[in-house]
Amino acid sequence: MMMSIYLDHAATTPVHPRVREAMQPYLTDHFGNPSSIHSYGRTARAAVEGSRDVIAQFLRVRPKQLVFTGSGTEADNMAIIGAAMANRERGNHIITTRAEHHAVLHTCEFLEENGFEVTYLPVDETGMVQVSALEQALRPNTILVSIIMGNNEVGTIQPIASIGQLLRDKQILFHTDAVQAFGLLQIDLAELPVDLLSASAHKINGPKGVGLLYVAGGVKLSPFIFGGSQERNRRAGTENVPGIVGFAEAVKLAAEEMENKWAQYGRLRQAMIETWQTSQIDFYINGHPEQYLPHILNVSFPGTDTETMLLNLDLAGIAAASGSACSSGSLELSHVLQAMCLDESRSRSAIRFSFGWGNTVEQVNQAAVRIAEIVKQLKGSK
Ligand SMILES: *Cc1c(COP(=O)(O)O)cnc(C)c1O
Repeated sequence: MMMSIYLDHAATTPVHPRVREAMQPYLTDHFGNPSSIHSYGRTARAAVEGSRDVIAQFLRVRPKQLVFTGSGTEADNMAIIGAAMANRERGNHIITTRAEHHAVLHTCEFLEENGFEVTYLPVDETGMVQVSALEQALRPNTILVSIIMGNNEVGTIQPIASIGQLLRDKQILFHTDAVQAFGLLQIDLAELPVDLLSASAHKINGPKGVGLLYVAGGVKLSPFIFGGSQERNRRAGTENVPGIVGFAEAVKLAAEEMENKWAQYGRLRQAMIETWQTSQIDFYINGHPEQYLPHILNVSFPGTDTETMLLNLDLAGIAAASGSACSSGSLELSHVLQAMCLDESRSRSAIRFSFGWGNTVEQVNQAAVRIAEIVKQLKGSK
């Protein structure tokens, strides 16, 4: 039996044992509703607020600036729809890029159907957006800019600090989807000029179904989930107490492990590349040569196609992806690779490998050998 190797951590990660342990009491004894005034409620409330404090400290923000949501997707929706609705008196123009996650792109498309105008900035062949292009796209009626911090398909890291500088003092809100970058990049929101930032627990060994949105002081968002007064009236609904506790524990872990991760993912990446070089298969790395998230390795194997590769990889016990989890399973070309204008044979043969907790050099060497064999077989059978 071949050992399976999970190289799809950009899609989701396993819950770390330490996270599971932290969550356990809130699934059993401490099941209270944080809004209840009795002791069960108070225990749950203390856990939620303690978790908020941990994450606030990590991001260097005030606890009340964090809103817990049901996912990274919901945080993106809340930021974009909330900012658009709250500022519609001032303008209806929004700027984003062609290389965003669908949680941002489809939200912008929804707003376009509802009276807003959206500019989708191009990216270059490395997936990078140009700050000068953003500057040129600004209009007097621009109310919001949303740009991903680290791309989930190719890993490219956008110049968020420079973009924030440009937008500062312009009365334009700046949102960044930091779901992939969160826990890997040092994000110091006391310094970084962004108004809204999304993150998600399950990409950093936390549980699924919990995300957060940072909302800078003074930023008004229209809520779009109505009900109780949870999260300071910004997101109704009983809090996911075990999820929030798990999120905080995952953040602690990420803070402790950040440096180790960069070193380890660097080694894993190098090991795969060297194995492929030794086996003399053709491959191209997609994304930026320097500004990239260390856990994402997007590679094209010309002469193969993504769909067939993924099927064969799966049979060989290797879990990888075609880019975004949402578009895998369909023959659709990745919108990010399309935006990068890679040539057809390259974008039709791209595979995303993404590393995480538990991956070893031995594992990725083994995977790389199997991958090289598959590439040779597929090309030989043509
Ligand atoms: C995974 C991901 C999301 C969505 O987060 P969920 O918690 O899965 O809804 C949004 N943006 C990026 C960049 C992601 O990688």
